[in-house]
Amino acid sequence: MILAIDIGGTKFSMAIFDGDRMVRRESRATHAEGGREWMVQQIAGIAGAWRGEYPLERCGIGFGGPVNFAAQRVVLSTHVGGWQDFDLCGFVRDAAGVPAVMDNDANVGAIGEAEFGAGRGYSPLFYMTLSTGIGGGIWQDGRLLRGADSYGGEIGHLTLRPDGPECLCGARGCLERMCCGLWLERDYGKSARELMQDAAFVRGYVVDLAQGLKAAIMLLNPARIVIGGGIAKAGDRLFLPLREELRRQITNWSAARIDVVPAELGDDSVLYGALSLARNPR
Ligand SMILES: [Zn+2]
Repeated sequence: MILAIDIGGTKFSMAIFDGDRMVRRESRATHAEGGREWMVQQIAGIAGAWRGEYPLERCGIGFGGPVNFAAQRVVLSTHVGGWQDFDLCGFVRDAAGVPAVMDNDANVGAIGEAEFGAGRGYSPLFYMTLSTGIGGGIWQDGRLLRGADSYGGEIGHLTLRPDGPECLCGARGCLERMCCGLWLERDYGKSARELMQDAAFVRGYVVDLAQGLKAAIMLLNPARIVIGGGIAKAGDRLFLPLREELRRQITNWSAARIDVVPAELGDDSVLYGALSLARNPR
């Protein structure tokens, strides 16, 4: 059996898979002040209980921040303190008693949707997580395209507005700064879920969002774009105006398809991807 862990900006989830079937799942809100210390203690508690109940073989992890895949180290988290250069795999190996492999959550979500969700049969596939933050994963011919240093696909920090507000990354006007859940709430005093109910707001919002996705379409000509994360749950309220705006922004001579759909696995894209990554680290 395989242990899957999804560490996000506002919550973390853990699951047990028996073959392709999820047989156990636990999700908890993160405790921002508790930082890394608090979260790894929670993970150790759950993993410690489960290792006595299930014959675990391996563990896969999706982490909500940049990961150096070759070195298997967390680079940092911009949302929760204390993660810099943390050996998360080593920690989980000790807590769960099985070898672990990790990548950033957008890459792992891309694997999940490519193998089990809305991306099945589509290559290249671009996956974007639209949640507390914004991340991206590029999937082609059965594997991830991570780039030379594991920083490929970081669509969240494309610049939309060079003179825009400062992003947590230090640059200005990034796609993440303009469109992610964390900043929507800070800028507008309402949750992304509430804002997505407001058609007038969404019409403006998709202009920024489409600018980011346009870059992925022009660079990669993906067979499909799958968007996961909490904001993607708005469904047609978001996706209909988004597709319309993309059609408007993308140059006429490009016959690149505009196939943008919500994730099929909902909150579990990363958990399914972690299952696949644990079986076949690639
Ligand atoms: Zn940024």
